[in-house]
Amino acid sequence: MAETLDGLLRPLRFAARRDFANLQKIKGLQASLTRALQQAGAALGAREAAALSELIEGLDGLGLEDKKRRVAALLARLEPGTSAASPTPGPQPVRRPAPAKPKTRASSPPKPRPKAVSADTAAEAPPRTAQLNKAAPKASVKRTGKRLPMAQAQPGTPLLEVVGVGPKTAERMAAKGLVTTQDALFFLPRKYEDRSTYRPIAELVAGDRVSVQGVVRIARARPAGRGKRVFEMVVADDSGSVNCRFFRFYQSQMDSRFPLGTQVVVSGAVTQWGAMRQMVHPEVEVVGEQGSQPEGVVPVYGDIEGVPAKKLRTMLKGLAQAAGHLVQDPLPPALLQRHGLARLPEAIVQAHLPTPDDVDSAQADGQPVLRMRRRLVFDELLYFQLALASTRASRDAQPGLTHQPPGPWQSIAKQLLPFSLTGAQTRALERIAADLAAPVPMNRLLQGDVGSGKTAVAFVAMAIVHACGRQSALLAPTEILAEQHFHKAQSLMQPLGIRVALLTGSTKASERKWMLSQLRAGELHLLIGTHAILEPAVTFKDLGLTIVDEQHRFGVQQRALLMDKGRTCGPDVLVMTATPIPRTLALTAYGDLRVSVIDELPPGRSPTKTRVFSARQRETALTALKAELAEGRQAYVVFPLIEASEKLELKAATEEVKGLQEALPGFEVALLHGRMRPDEKAEIMQRFASAQAQVLVSTTVIEVGIDVANATVMMIENAERFGLSQLHQLRGRVGRGQHRGHCFLMAGADGAEGRERLAVLEASHDGFYVAERDLEIRGPGEMLGTRQSGLPDLVLADVVRDAEVVEFARDEAFALLEADPQLSRPEHRALAEELRRRFADKVGLASVG
Ligand code: ADP
Ligand code: MG
Repeated sequence: MAETLDGLLRPLRFAARRDFANLQKIKGLQASLTRALQQAGAALGAREAAALSELIEGLDGLGLEDKKRRVAALLARLEPGTSAASPTPGPQPVRRPAPAKPKTRASSPPKPRPKAVSADTAAEAPPRTAQLNKAAPKASVKRTGKRLPMAQAQPGTPLLEVVGVGPKTAERMAAKGLVTTQDALFFLPRKYEDRSTYRPIAELVAGDRVSVQGVVRIARARPAGRGKRVFEMVVADDSGSVNCRFFRFYQSQMDSRFPLGTQVVVSGAVTQWGAMRQMVHPEVEVVGEQGSQPEGVVPVYGDIEGVPAKKLRTMLKGLAQAAGHLVQDPLPPALLQRHGLARLPEAIVQAHLPTPDDVDSAQADGQPVLRMRRRLVFDELLYFQLALASTRASRDAQPGLTHQPPGPWQSIAKQLLPFSLTGAQTRALERIAADLAAPVPMNRLLQGDVGSGKTAVAFVAMAIVHACGRQSALLAPTEILAEQHFHKAQSLMQPLGIRVALLTGSTKASERKWMLSQLRAGELHLLIGTHAILEPAVTFKDLGLTIVDEQHRFGVQQRALLMDKGRTCGPDVLVMTATPIPRTLALTAYGDLRVSVIDELPPGRSPTKTRVFSARQRETALTALKAELAEGRQAYVVFPLIEASEKLELKAATEEVKGLQEALPGFEVALLHGRMRPDEKAEIMQRFASAQAQVLVSTTVIEVGIDVANATVMMIENAERFGLSQLHQLRGRVGRGQHRGHCFLMAGADGAEGRERLAVLEASHDGFYVAERDLEIRGPGEMLGTRQSGLPDLVLADVVRDAEVVEFARDEAFALLEADPQLSRPEHRALAEELRRRFADKVGLASVG
């Protein structure tokens, strides 16, 4: 999905950048969006595609302001939650909407459940993607009783009945699922800021969240287009100045509060705006103004729309003072003791009302950390793991297909493959064969480095299913990869009488029609393709197994579509990924899947030799490249897309090809780029595969996911622009034949830092080691790609820093459910209730994958 939307998102993001500065410069935006939409069409679904199409229609003809609005609307639609206009797109708070009725957890125990906790909620829960685009539903809030002073609020008191909260605010909180005082108390700070010290303004960099103290130098409102106005205030200290901008303001209030020369403390996120550093809607306090005191450690909360940060903080402070210590702790005391965890009421109070003693300020990143944080992180992870485990349990309770071939799977593998399996492949297949034979749906993730032999394993699984008389489908992220799988499958499977077909966006209509009828008749046994195979018209006689390659490029939704194609119940699902996922991340992001790892390369491979070259060493790299070519080998040159404009990119790539061609006389250099039609791409690939071209320059990284045994060099330009895991994958593309592979990482002109990072690859060939470093450096979101990755929304926990907690939270969750699958024992009632409070609409979130 990320891949398919990319064509739409890239030009839009480019257009919106820096307050739409680029918008007037772009030519043919409408045409390129229309094209991208056509390409993405099938993946989006007809209705979404139509809605987008409507927004794109007539775009070029609009005036600038209308155009901006359209672009913003398109972005909002494609990237819900990261509105283009929002200058500080911090992570969304995660508390799920709670049921509208006030909580009664303490007083009335939950009704006994007929099934596992899991089963009831999971069955009703819509697939997670369905929720991605949906705003949190508004809980309807009715004022029932009389109002209580804040100091008397109890955990169960609805916010609407608390004096000082205000009906508007209560409603806005309710929109986030925060209805009761307790809900609000569980809305925990994302982090803390130490406001007792101020940073010199000159040191601010975009991305910082800081407080600075200075003097108001300029303060004025000015037009901001479309009849709107912006209030600009320049605040300076001895070192420099920062521009504060407000888009919602009352002129008279601003004028009276901030006359020139006023001493202020400004807190907020720093962004870059042209050459200026700016803060949009920072919190401003006038030094010496009534009620302003030097603040010490301040909790920073996620945004709640319509509730100013300061107001939210004051309110939560009051509520925590009144009711924080009254919160019940659902966790058994023994468990807390085992892991040295604080009690919940104390942790909650500390979270909202930190004293200087409650935080540890000596952190590498300078941000204070709450001492009882571990308890809160544990809770988050525990409930998350409980939800995953129960999702898994409920799925296991559903009927699934049984694939029990007449003979042992080993003999199928022997017939199918021209080589014998590695130990790791055998272990994976043992598990897969057992999953297939079991009467519950398989949901397994197969991880392994590029070239470790996952595809071979997948083929065996499909042959097993064929031996049981059922069909299989293999979903690949690009046409080239689908084609490659198809050719391999054909040569291996056809001899066993397995009939294979390839369906992509460029399959001819007549051919497609024939294919579909053959599929329905059961005459075709294996369908390989891109997202074209997800269309509703594609139906099977009896689909038994679905395999998804390169999992992270597809959304959960696509997998759900494939699962719907089963005849009686969902087919078994095997997901393959070449991105090694560090264990702690796998436990969270893929916690509901069973995981098999192929940690062994087929015999006779020597690891690819990797070397980082600086810009000055380019000649050396080219000489080494030439030497390989002279030996009759071939090379890939990967050229990252940097510019947001396709035209510029293409120009740069074309120039690269020209330069290389000059440097490599006598060899053919071919170019593969994202704007080519599939048939053009196929032709270029063919030239390279047949060694007519010796060098393949590619701007689209994924297309390099091809298997040319004679290619031994992978040269990557501007390598520091890639993630380490991505680079690791790329280098896995060479050295697959009998000759050793070489990977040249060309560092750009700037930065020792980038070089240092790249050195990880020089030092290690272990994909998991590389992935761990990558995770440390880039964080989980970046590493797994987009939010479609299924990465859970964890507010507090950090899978790197809290790795230890991830592990024991998972163990405890599984142990709890093993001892008490329905969490129905009296001592677990509160826990079950809290699980439902947190995940009511979300248990089953990962049920498809
Ligand atoms: P992946 O899908 O993990 O990238 P593939 O299944 O495509 O890996 O395997 C990479 C290459 O290694 C292919 O050319 C394949 O034929 C070969 N191969 C796979 N397993 C073995 C094995 N056990 N012994 C020898 N060669 C193998
Ligand atoms: Mg593969």
